[in-house]
Amino acid sequence: MRGLNRIARMLWLGILGAGLPSPSALAGERPCMVAIDVGHSPASPGAISASGVPEYEFNRTLSNALVEAFALQPGFQPILLLAPGGHDTRKPWTPRERAEQANALGADLLISVHHDSVQPSYLTEVHKHGKTFRYSRHAQGYSLLISRDQSCGETRSRRLAEHLGDSLQMRGYRATGHHAEDIDGEHRPWLDPERGIDAFDRLAVLRHATMPAVLVEAGVIVHPEEEAELANAAAQRRQAGALVAGIVTWWRESRQPPLTLEQRTDIQSALNQRAALLEFLGGYSTLDAESQALKDVRVYQYRVAERPHDWQILIAPDREWNEARRILLEQFGVEQLLEVVPRPLLRHEVLA
Ligand SMILES: [Zn+2]
Repeated sequence: MRGLNRIARMLWLGILGAGLPSPSALAGERPCMVAIDVGHSPASPGAISASGVPEYEFNRTLSNALVEAFALQPGFQPILLLAPGGHDTRKPWTPRERAEQANALGADLLISVHHDSVQPSYLTEVHKHGKTFRYSRHAQGYSLLISRDQSCGETRSRRLAEHLGDSLQMRGYRATGHHAEDIDGEHRPWLDPERGIDAFDRLAVLRHATMPAVLVEAGVIVHPEEEAELANAAAQRRQAGALVAGIVTWWRESRQPPLTLEQRTDIQSALNQRAALLEFLGGYSTLDAESQALKDVRVYQYRVAERPHDWQILIAPDREWNEARRILLEQFGVEQLLEVVPRPLLRHEVLA
């Protein structure tokens, strides 16, 4: 018990980590420019929903909901890519041209908004009021596509997709797995089934983008019940909010100075100690203790005037930012302490 108390005190006091080389991140406060591509066009509207509405209409309303959701986020500038001649043009507009427009704008990321269908063999035809409708209950849910052929590399697109997937999953959205099926027209490699990330390497809108780019299939519009949900304005706002939240976390993370190996090791041992404490004193299961430790162990990055380019870390379990700042002020003084920023911990970064 005494040993555990000592661990608890050590965690409570915080552990100071070593410095690290200067990151170019965190510099400047320019907004994050989000290029939003409304998938398809009036001339070529994509899939047709169970009730006969073109996919383009769904893409357009969700894209507008994204723009509205970004309005509530300071530091983000959403831009709808514009077809030559405006959104109602009947002129063809290639996926490659969309990517090139995002490149020319210097956007920080590209989101291509789409809605999904299934292979024709799964569609059931019904005739109503002299019209033909096609529907299927074969698949439902979202999917996120990235291209591994991007000239700028796939790593950052993959990370963006992971954040989008996490944010959607956290809010109860489920991924569809039907693109990985062993049938003609699918066979897309599943990169991350848990988060719903597929590879679609040849997609021009992604491949030609020079920034992180993800194509979002928001849901399956040939599924009658899912279509009703996707057409609902409140549900669109909710999904747009989930996507924006994922983008915001990704952006914050991509601007964070990276942790050194030594810092990661220090954080990991603080996490292990905290988890052990929760497991043996708190009665948590091993898995729950690990998750709770990730929430409890707060990490702050800071710089001091003496070494302005070195980001150091303060591991301060349970401490809010103002408390962490006070600890550092006591140690370095107001003249020395330049900046203290919270450093959210990501499971993949710190847990082996
Ligand atoms: Zn589409």
